[in-house]
Amino acid sequence: MDILKIFENIDKGGTLSREEIKTLLALEDKVLIQRLFDTAYKIKLEYVGNKVYFRGLIELSNVCRKDCYYCGIRKSNENVVRYSMTSQEIVDAAMWAYKNKYGSVVLQSGERTDKNFTDAMTDVVHKIKHASGGTLGITLCLGEQSPEVYKQWFAAGAHRYLLRIETSNPELYAKLHPADHSHAERLKCLKSLKEIGYQVGTGVMAGLPFQTLDDLAGDLLFFKENDIDMIGMGPYLVHDDTPLANEMPDFDTRKESQLELGLKMIAIARILLKDVNIASTTALQALDDRGREMGLKAGANIIMPNITDVKYRSLYQLYEDKPCLDDSPDHCKSCLKWRVESVGEKIAYDEWGDSVHFYERVRKAKDNEQ
Ligand code: SAM
Ligand code: SF4
Repeated sequence: MDILKIFENIDKGGTLSREEIKTLLALEDKVLIQRLFDTAYKIKLEYVGNKVYFRGLIELSNVCRKDCYYCGIRKSNENVVRYSMTSQEIVDAAMWAYKNKYGSVVLQSGERTDKNFTDAMTDVVHKIKHASGGTLGITLCLGEQSPEVYKQWFAAGAHRYLLRIETSNPELYAKLHPADHSHAERLKCLKSLKEIGYQVGTGVMAGLPFQTLDDLAGDLLFFKENDIDMIGMGPYLVHDDTPLANEMPDFDTRKESQLELGLKMIAIARILLKDVNIASTTALQALDDRGREMGLKAGANIIMPNITDVKYRSLYQLYEDKPCLDDSPDHCKSCLKWRVESVGEKIAYDEWGDSVHFYERVRKAKDNEQ
């Protein structure tokens, strides 16, 4: 396939076929890879500008009922000391974000579906909304729940939800999870989130064992076909206490290619989806100190600074080498300002930075109704 023709076609506003996406993902020539990132960056500037929106990440509990084969806090990992932040600690962390003009928070945790937990989250969302005078945006990343629970949390004031599909290929999903973890259920959850009115985010891990470039191309096309508003994806990173670690014993020699693949996925997502929000995730930074800045230059426009109290951070290790384990939220704030500005981007303080795509999607749906 003629790579220069693919770039010419993108420059003329054309879209990408599955085969073209695979060709871009397979690029090895550094000059061409840079061209891919530059092309995506140009599209980002055109559609969403050079503002970077912050979502203060609160990792509120590592208790999880699931056993995903790749994840360090899976329920069968007995080496993890489990914790759950109190409601007050969660609200306090959110108020730190509010006072520091972060605009939004993300509440993330292991998956729990018991009523004690879901009601506690409803209460916490309410309290954060109230304490911030309605100004703090709230994104949830709390796994698969019933439509009723999603509705309850939406009514309490959450307006965005992140639920990664992990992979769009059900056969690959089955290899990465125990038999009772259902890909179909995950799809149903995404549908229900959209129906309730959330801005819906999803994503995948790139560079998983058994994953092919065809799978990754399928993932990017899945985002487009499902009209996804926000993308949170990153490279797969090994955690030694997980079953999947055995499938990638040479992970240490692959870090550079995992990073490159993660960045290519961001760039192609930007080229394909144009006006969505795309996160430059911590997993990129785990592979390279400048990983998140590279993500911004490849087309991402969201950063999720970790604002969890340092006493909990080391207990929420999804993968090895999680960065910034000992850095307080205050330290992260000044470090990030420098990092974001160093690549010519601007932090949008006190702004929600909602997905432009979401509003377009809602507008089109209304037009169709009339
Ligand atoms: N428990 C919820 C869920 O799974 O949707 C939310 C929290 S979970 C820790 C957030 C994301 O972490 C998952 O969707 C998964 O993609 C990512 N993750 C878990 N283990 C990982 C690993 N070893 N490498 C990279 N990302 C990982
Ligand atoms: Fe639990 Fe999420 Fe980790 Fe799966 S990825 S084990 S659901 S925290």
